[in-house]
Amino acid sequence: MTATNRIISIETHKVRPASHDVIFAVSTRDEAAIKDQRWTVRTVLQAMGRAERFYSEAPNGRRARVQRYTCAGCHQEHIRTHISDAAIHDLTNLPHTGGLPAALAASTPLA
Ligand SMILES: [Zn+2]
Repeated sequence: MTATNRIISIETHKVRPASHDVIFAVSTRDEAAIKDQRWTVRTVLQAMGRAERFYSEAPNGRRARVQRYTCAGCHQEHIRTHISDAAIHDLTNLPHTGGLPAALAASTPLA
């Protein structure tokens, strides 16, 4: 059976060049809603390599697939909503969580 993971929130950050926003981590919730799991994009890509699937769910219950793609800007692999499913739901509409607490982020010099 292929594991299918529902993404419920995302974490983004800006990366060079051109300060584009990328998703660098996500959280998934299993169907029993017992526990959430945090994944970095690297572990998501590794899971996709094992044929695991990821999706986000619209308020009406429809599922939008998540795909990997190679970014034209930084030539790294990122994840996004499958372009064929953009009308169903967009990953970036999910809650943004995690990252640095605001107070810490404000006092952390930019690298
Ligand atoms: Zn990029």
